[in-house]
Amino acid sequence: MSQRLLNDRDIDFLLYELLNTEALMQRPRYQEHSREVFNATLDTAKTVAEKYFANHNAKADSNEPTFDGDKVTLIPETKEAWNAFAEAGFLAAHYDFEDGGMQLPEVILRAAMGYFSAANIATTGYPFLSIGSANLINSFGSDAQKAKFLPPMQEGRFAGTMALTEPGQGSALADIKTTAKPAADGSYRLFGQKMFISGGDQSLTDNIVHMVLAKIEGAPAGTKGISLFICPKFLVNDDGSLGERNDVALAGLLHKMGYRNTTSTVLSFGEKDGAVGYLLGEPHKGLNYMFQMMNEARIGVGMGAAVLGYQGFNYSLDYARERPQGRLPSNKNPESKQVNIIQHADVRRMLLAQKAYAEGALAMCMFASSLFEDSHTAETEQQRQQAFLLLDLITPMVKSWPSKYGLKANELAIQVLGGSGYIREYPVEQYYRDNRLNPIHEGTEAIHGLDVLGRKVLLNKGAGFKLFLDSLAASIEQASQLELAKEFVTPLNNALSTLAETTRVLTEKLGEDPELSLANATVYLDLFGRVLASWIWLKQALVAAEKLGTNNGQASQLHETEVNFYRGKLQAARYYFQWELPEIYPQAELLQRFDRAPLDMQDAWF
Ligand SMILES: Cc1cc2nc3c(=O)[nH]c(=O)nc-3n(C[C@H](O)[C@H](O)[C@H](O)COP(=O)(O)OP(=O)(O)OC[C@H]3O[C@@H](n4cnc5c(N)ncnc54)[C@H](O)[C@@H]3O)c2cc1C
Repeated sequence: MSQRLLNDRDIDFLLYELLNTEALMQRPRYQEHSREVFNATLDTAKTVAEKYFANHNAKADSNEPTFDGDKVTLIPETKEAWNAFAEAGFLAAHYDFEDGGMQLPEVILRAAMGYFSAANIATTGYPFLSIGSANLINSFGSDAQKAKFLPPMQEGRFAGTMALTEPGQGSALADIKTTAKPAADGSYRLFGQKMFISGGDQSLTDNIVHMVLAKIEGAPAGTKGISLFICPKFLVNDDGSLGERNDVALAGLLHKMGYRNTTSTVLSFGEKDGAVGYLLGEPHKGLNYMFQMMNEARIGVGMGAAVLGYQGFNYSLDYARERPQGRLPSNKNPESKQVNIIQHADVRRMLLAQKAYAEGALAMCMFASSLFEDSHTAETEQQRQQAFLLLDLITPMVKSWPSKYGLKANELAIQVLGGSGYIREYPVEQYYRDNRLNPIHEGTEAIHGLDVLGRKVLLNKGAGFKLFLDSLAASIEQASQLELAKEFVTPLNNALSTLAETTRVLTEKLGEDPELSLANATVYLDLFGRVLASWIWLKQALVAAEKLGTNNGQASQLHETEVNFYRGKLQAARYYFQWELPEIYPQAELLQRFDRAPLDMQDAWF
């Protein structure tokens, strides 16, 4: 069975019906673009993804990268994919024309990346990290640093990494041990070890630019003492040619459950005289800078999780349409033909849940990308600020909800395939293994729960949270005007009040007893994620309801396939509101009574 990438109709729906991407052309930055240009970009992404990325997704999974003590070897298709990605211009597509880019908007590029990740999430890891690292240099680097590193990164001669985690420090970056000693020439010498660094060594590019978090000797304790350094594998001469090998050594590769074709490395900095590092921006502001990359990466991780969920959904749907097995409960005739499993209500339940998770997650990430776009290019300063405020608040859920439910979708895809789902001849078990990473990296679920409850909802006197509540209320008001969307009004109103009340109760306790207030923050993250997902589903349902008009589309002029598409959206929204949203009520009850079971559990009692 061939493997289709995402769903072009859905991408079109998200871009042009849900998000009104065409309106971007009124903004000065995009005036020279057209819908044709946007669509051509997506077509290119899909073609390159199908030809150069999907071709080795399974092969790379069973032939993981190796290290012989000298060099890293990847299957050759990886380099072809890297080259094709670079040649198609995607490493630089978001830069302005004058900086060698295509000046394309975030939402288009995010959708383009969606095709690559759907085809091969592990190989896409290399450009994903490289684009993020280059963005950091572009935002905070000096002119000389930009001139030296950006062109080769945009062209694909150099790749980039983000080197935060250490063997002893992952979630708690405040305690990193890597140190930076000032050198006479104004650069620094780095000493320390980093672990889990994706793409930390490979055989794709001439050079690798590590973005390394380290503490300058004598820096203040905690996150306020962290600085960010550019530390290339090979030093770069002023004329751009490669110089000596820097003192960065690959200590070894890590062997993973999934995402295997992205090398996971342990890197040693400064085993000899110290690795030459160049301070990016000002000292001690490194974590703030890195947050720019992490926030972009978090939408990207959510997107990766969403599209893996989507791929499993696509595959299991196609399978269910072709696999004959059993008969319906009402049919007692053993000689009658077996039905395809999609005829069984329970299989449709699993497919509908996957649709709700995968399409919901994709829409959530695309919505977040449009906020990112607005925060940079919306017409007025106030619009830009509002977009930033909302995005900042919802980022923990945009990363975590798709990561949790994209994975759940993959679990259901395996279940739909039955025994076939569990064997490696079918792709769904790989999707599951690949996706299992997403609730872990870029901040675990726990860390995002603490972030949203302990910080984000209170930030700017709760302005972001209030904006979120107001935005939902506006969508509810819209729903009350549309016949086909009215059923969503009361459930979302109730959910909104429950979220607001739970947030009030928990944050009131924060000052008095932070341990207790935050003990169940991961449950709060899930509750908030469910409300956000419901809003995203309502937004999709509003478009569908409007298109269908009255009478479920029967009176509309739409083609039958279009009616089916919109009905599918409404049905998935209905499923989410009936089956998933109500889970917030037991969660809210548990949270508001400050259940202490995990908090009071003692180490010795295990
Ligand atoms: C495949 C892969 C790729 C990665 N790529 C990169 C990369 O490119 N660059 C990079 O810098 N890092 C990378 N990482 C590292 C990743 O970001 C960390 O693994 C992650 O942040 C968790 O850190 P840790 O592994 O040290 O776990 P720990 O921080 O030790 O966490 C272990 C457990 O304790 C929980 N926990 C920790 N602190 C708290 C707390 N305060 N409250 C409640 N619970 C807590 C966590 O939620 C988790 O369940 C990657 C990891 C993997 C597996």
